Amino acid sequence: MVTYHVVMRSITRTSPDPASISSNVDFAAQLIANSNHVVAMTGAGMSVESGIPPFRGTNGLWTKYGTPSMDGYRQFKADPEAYWDRQINAQIDEHILELRESLRNAKPHVGHYALVELVNRGHIKSVITQNIDGLDLKAGMGEALIEIHGNRSRLRCIGCSKRTDLNDFVPLFAPDPCEDCGEPVKFDAVMFGEPIVPEVMAAAKAEIDRADCVVAIGTSATVRPASGLLWIARHRSKGNHNGTAGLKPDAKLIEINPNPTKLSSICDVVVRMTAGQGVPALLQALTTAPSTTNSNARPAYESTSYRPAP
Ligand SMILES: [Zn+2]
Repeated sequence: MVTYHVVMRSITRTSPDPASISSNVDFAAQLIANSNHVVAMTGAGMSVESGIPPFRGTNGLWTKYGTPSMDGYRQFKADPEAYWDRQINAQIDEHILELRESLRNAKPHVGHYALVELVNRGHIKSVITQNIDGLDLKAGMGEALIEIHGNRSRLRCIGCSKRTDLNDFVPLFAPDPCEDCGEPVKFDAVMFGEPIVPEVMAAAKAEIDRADCVVAIGTSATVRPASGLLWIARHRSKGNHNGTAGLKPDAKLIEINPNPTKLSSICDVVVRMTAGQGVPALLQALTTAPSTTNSNARPAYESTSYRPAP
């Protein structure tokens, strides 16, 4: 068995030909098997295969309909009643209407289920998702999930962050102010200009700080502060967000994305596949090619149903 870990610091594998894709999947699986705390971060690319259009890019909602107001949160806080009036009466941006319709019809794809399986088997410890569609939950993801931009199918108080599940219902009237603290209630999904909920951001940062390997799946790595976490993990030894340098080695970085991103050049390995192809391929590679050269690594297999043939 090749011990990639000896040389991978100087290697970035980004070649797109199919043979390379296959070997890059194996290489990525090797990195995961040799790591102790693997964290995944997912982006819009994870959702597009479930029929949810991205905001950015060629077929993005904002490309079609124009970029929405960047101060949505300030507008909400200034007049929550007017905000809810627009929501209830559908007097809202076309991109929101199309997003709402696609969310209603969306179902998890094989990539979501494979990611849940990677978590259930202990290969991945937590998943930070930038997506608001709740498809990871529908695929069976449990407490490992951190929805850094919230979840469109919940309401949240902007004062105490108390959440209420809508269970896929669209509100027919404006929700009352929070019964605990009296502050206005909005969709849990984070708006433009709205800070990430502090305890959610803290949970994401804590996971990134613990990670010795991060898998970026279907994210263009352009939306801050979420994408910044990837750079923090990758450049930890150069100084981190706490101003302390060199305390922990850089995390390994794996990218699964059919297109080059800002992240590609700093990854240890790039798998040029969609999320629906790449995550199941990774699961398959971890299933069929067990290997660990790190005595601290977890057992490669925790489920008898996927034990490789002897
Ligand atoms: Zn409250």
